[in-house]
Amino acid sequence: MSQLATPSRLSRTDIERVVRDVLSGHLAGSTGKRTEQPNPLMVNISARHVHLSQEHVEVLFGAGSQLTVFKPLYQEGYFAANETVAVVGPRLRMIANVRVLGPCRGASQVELAFTDGISLGIDLPVKISGDLAGTPGCVLVGPKGVIELQSGVIRAMRHVHMGPDDLDYFKCQNGDHLQLKIHSPGCTTILEDVVVRASKEVKLEVHLDTDEGNAVNLDRATHVELIKPEKCGCKH
Ligand SMILES: [Zn+2]
Repeated sequence: MSQLATPSRLSRTDIERVVRDVLSGHLAGSTGKRTEQPNPLMVNISARHVHLSQEHVEVLFGAGSQLTVFKPLYQEGYFAANETVAVVGPRLRMIANVRVLGPCRGASQVELAFTDGISLGIDLPVKISGDLAGTPGCVLVGPKGVIELQSGVIRAMRHVHMGPDDLDYFKCQNGDHLQLKIHSPGCTTILEDVVVRASKEVKLEVHLDTDEGNAVNLDRATHVELIKPEKCGCKH
């Protein structure tokens, strides 16, 4: 007889483990597989881009100018604009033709990959979009004018847009950190700290930047999955 079969020897941990094993076995047996994910998971690369206030659109592209649609984005109502600007760093290094995304926002913001920051000479902080306090600035040059941003240049923190059904399914809430596993030939990777950005009218979509997308060879990925990490001791 095994040690575990003697009730007096069973520790609380043993009992919990046995119960857990039985329950998970039972659930797997009864349902066959997990509940279906309510929405397909899209993982897209956000190439470097700029968000502009309407006021800045008019400075850069002329009084009365409006952004015009070049290509709709996956999220309803958002688009890549025909308009582009040059982003100039502190040592006059420049990246030309950076796409503006619409619609306009309250505050202008420049989202770059680390590699872009290195070539511009800007030490990019990793920030959730819109969290611009204390971030570095740059100069934006358009066909009709120039804007000097005092702040607003960031590397956007990798994130996943989730609607109510997705929050339910993954049992998480706005601001939680998930993991994204990308299965790619030769470079399967788990990205941590994929921050949940919840809103009502949104499609399930992960945004990575070009550095991240290239590192995991996203173009060749065969499968992607979001994973809720076990609670760990560290604070993030
Ligand atoms: Zn996004």
